[in-house]
Amino acid sequence: MITEIDLDELVENLMQCRRCGICRNAVFEERGFDGVCPVWRNSSGFETSFMRGRIQVALALLEGVLEKTPENAEALYTCTLCGNCTEICAAEFDPAECLEKVRAVLNDIPNDVRDSIAEMIMQYDNPYEENSQLKRNWVEEVGFEITSTGEVLYYVGCTAGIRLPNIAKSTVKILKAADIDFAVLEHEPCCGSVMLRTGRIENALTNAKRFADIIQKSGAKRIIITCAGCLKTLTEDYPKMGVELPEVIHITEFLRDIIESKKLKLKSLGKGIKVTYHDPCHLSRALGFYDEPREIIKAIPDIKLVEMETNRVTAMCCGAGGGLRSYDSELSKKIAADRVKSAVAIDVEMIVTACPFCEHNLTAGADIIDQSMRVVDVVDLVAESLTLKGNG
Ligand code: SF4
Ligand code: SF4
Repeated sequence: MITEIDLDELVENLMQCRRCGICRNAVFEERGFDGVCPVWRNSSGFETSFMRGRIQVALALLEGVLEKTPENAEALYTCTLCGNCTEICAAEFDPAECLEKVRAVLNDIPNDVRDSIAEMIMQYDNPYEENSQLKRNWVEEVGFEITSTGEVLYYVGCTAGIRLPNIAKSTVKILKAADIDFAVLEHEPCCGSVMLRTGRIENALTNAKRFADIIQKSGAKRIIITCAGCLKTLTEDYPKMGVELPEVIHITEFLRDIIESKKLKLKSLGKGIKVTYHDPCHLSRALGFYDEPREIIKAIPDIKLVEMETNRVTAMCCGAGGGLRSYDSELSKKIAADRVKSAVAIDVEMIVTACPFCEHNLTAGADIIDQSMRVVDVVDLVAESLTLKGNG
């Protein structure tokens, strides 16, 4: 169980670190990949800005060598948990996963940001706003009825529902065009992802049980998700907490299949449009969805998909994950700007991604460097292509 972390085992795992430092800025020559840790690349460059230093801080706090103060624990939280270090680390442990567990074990160290997010979710069912009803406001704008119970459920998630409702509108437009009967909950609970990543594990468990209860009452047999973070939480973390749900599927898998079965016909958005795809860490490195979004993009006639210098398994993070966007939003946006620069370097018109949280942060990153680079979700691109066909 994720809630029962074995402290001895955790320390033993952390001790596997050989202090080689390749998780800082190693080069995968055959992949043209230079620079592993997005935080190290975009911050002071001190030892605690990448995994080797974080592990030493974690061990010192766990063993009582360092006093448990917010200042001493800072290195535990300035990490997006992107998993790039895990990909390159040759030692017998998963550093990013261990760091997440360390946060849970050391959750008695005060951290106002972590605690206020958890309290917001537990009280209001989302980490952003007091009024959770805002999550369903977009329904009024789609021009057709959406029921709140049914066998296929579109779980919108907090970021799309509140911050980027266009993703929700595009998704339901596609489902409708493909003749899928679907529902959207009247009162959607939060999946609790950020509580898990930041160490509020007991709250996350309580929330997960309530989530499963609401889903069961809705009668859903299949849940479609547009957020990479929600997907990882519901498919990887919930089972580890002993919480069961019906089948959960990401929109890119679902969409790839309905495009293949010719249920949707996509039209050109114009000749010679050049785009790139940003892999969300939770969707790609964590769950292996590399091809599905790329196949969808390529199914749109006349679109040219080109890759950034780091892509697929080596893709640099957008900077939003692991609670970093809340803990240090300046650093988080700087990392996003770094990612946007990679897209600018290959001269594309837009960055396509498949996670609202990535879209939100990459857009903020483009803003701070005055770049007009458009950032869209793959569902927006598909919905645009349907509109031109007159399907919408
Ligand atoms: S975490 Fe892995 S890659 Fe980084 S210093 Fe330790 S052993 Fe090396
Ligand atoms: S998980 Fe990502 S951000 Fe965190 S230390 Fe590893 S590479 Fe850096």
